[in-house]
This record gives sequence, structure tokens and C-alpha cells, in this order.
Amino acid sequence: MQKGRRRIDITGMTFAKWEVLRYLPDRKPGSFYDCQCLCGAVREINGIKLRQGMNPPCECDPSKNLVGNQYGLLTVIAKDERENGQQFWLCRCRCGTETVVSRDNLESGNSQSCNRYKHKKKYAKSA
Ligand SMILES: [Zn+2]
Ligand SMILES: [Zn+2]
Repeated sequence: MQKGRRRIDITGMTFAKWEVLRYLPDRKPGSFYDCQCLCGAVREINGIKLRQGMNPPCECDPSKNLVGNQYGLLTVIAKDERENGQQFWLCRCRCGTETVVSRDNLESGNSQSCNRYKHKKKYAKSA
């Protein structure tokens, strides 16, 4: 074994959203892996960078993923499947009601609670 040159096999490991599928032996300088993002996209990524904590960008750019974000009383819990020229997100209001809101409405602050009037009023007052 050559000192300091040993390749650490990270196949099967997961770094942030990337799961390492397989080593690519024909890539220079020899540390590239096929990695699959949580969104399903597969990319060649430098394993050294992964181990250093780099989080490579993907089509599902984290800034476009609203899951976990909070908007007023709403917490985004999943992407809604609906396709209508804009993104829709499934959100849970603090009262437990689930509601689907467009990304525009979330980011513009138009939607900050479920559609219960008393909520809106309450939130407007406390905000
Ligand atoms: Zn992705
Ligand atoms: Zn509510």
C-alpha cells in the first residue's frame, strides 16, 4: 500500500443529499464517483470534495427547495405534485391544518397561515 495515496472507498456513503453510487476508475485524478442526489439526478463528483464537506449543486438547487422553510405560521413539508406553470408546496399551519400554497405566495408573504380568518387576523396583529 502506497503511503498517503490510499483511496478511501466512499461507495455507498451519503454526503448531504448525495449518495455515492460507484467509483469511476477511469477518471483523472482518480477520485470521481457517480453520485445520486435525493432528487434522483446522477452526477460525477470528486470524492475528496465530498469528504471535505462540499455540497455540490444540483438541478434541485437547495435555494429552490422550500421544504423546512417557515413562512409566518406555515412550515413547508413537501413539494406538491401539481404542475401549473409555477411550483406549489404543501405546508402545515401551526394549527395542524395542511394547505397547498404557490411558491410565489409563500415568498411574497401573501400566504402566512391556513385560510382560517382568525389566523390571518391574529398573525397580522402579532406581526
Ligand atoms: Zn438534486
Ligand atoms: Zn392554521
